[in-house]
Amino acid sequence: MQQDILKAAILITKSRFTTAYTGAGISVESGIPPFRGENGLWSKYDPQILDLDYFYKNPLKSWKVIKEIFYDYFGQAKPNKAHLALAEMERRNLIARTITQNIDYLHQEAGSRIVYEFHGNCQTLYCLSCCTKYKALEISLEHLPPTCRCGGILKPGFVFFGEDIPQLPLLAAYEAASLSEVFLIIGTTGEVMPANQIPFMAKSNGATIIEVNTKESNYTDKITDIFLKGKAAGVMEKLSSALFSATLDND
Ligand code: NAD
Repeated sequence: MQQDILKAAILITKSRFTTAYTGAGISVESGIPPFRGENGLWSKYDPQILDLDYFYKNPLKSWKVIKEIFYDYFGQAKPNKAHLALAEMERRNLIARTITQNIDYLHQEAGSRIVYEFHGNCQTLYCLSCCTKYKALEISLEHLPPTCRCGGILKPGFVFFGEDIPQLPLLAAYEAASLSEVFLIIGTTGEVMPANQIPFMAKSNGATIIEVNTKESNYTDKITDIFLKGKAAGVMEKLSSALFSATLDND
């Protein structure tokens, strides 16, 4: 493992453009469970609450669960060592872009600045009738579903099943996949379309793929060059200390 950490650190140090690409696994050690797997959210909740058609027809039912998971629960979470390591790597020009499938805003809270949220985030709500945007913190969730000044129902700013990916992160992800010399995948199964295609695009454009995960993903056998097996916080702590001493050695 330590050999692989060093190899990864050297590749990142030499790379002129490195992209971090993260999924639910990076936030597990912040207390947010992933969707899939044994203790995943879908073992407790029905995924249809995040289906756009279902939400339109049953906003109250959806909102009761959405509030519990994404506002009461996610709202308490703090960035962990993996988020903090990526933010510091960005500060030291070792990461050019962070593309995340997560909606928890923890990369920004850790200090990362160039973050493209492929699936939006929880921080905004918008009106399904007049499209007015609100900061989630400004809206009381005491009475559900929350409504706009115009009376329309508010929807969270993250992407539901059946909803299009926002254009900006989509284009930014394609650009990053074409420019990356190293692509660092952290904590994703690679099952969610179309986000899961981005690492394949990076690989076919010549990027070296480094992957951090507790277990093999859809990428591991197909495109991963260096697999750093383990929990994101511990692995990223080791990688960043190897990197920062390597960066200092090069100074
Ligand atoms: P997923 O739930 O499908 O898979 C999580 C992955 O993380 C798995 O590969 C698992 O092995 C790995 N993992 C679990 N614990 C880990 C740890 N401590 N360190 C490193 N890896 C770990 O998640 P996904 O592939 O990101 O896709 C699911 C979708 O779920 C995403 O589109 C995202 O929008 C959404 N989601 C987001 C959050 C969040 O914002 N934190 C949480 C749950 C789901």
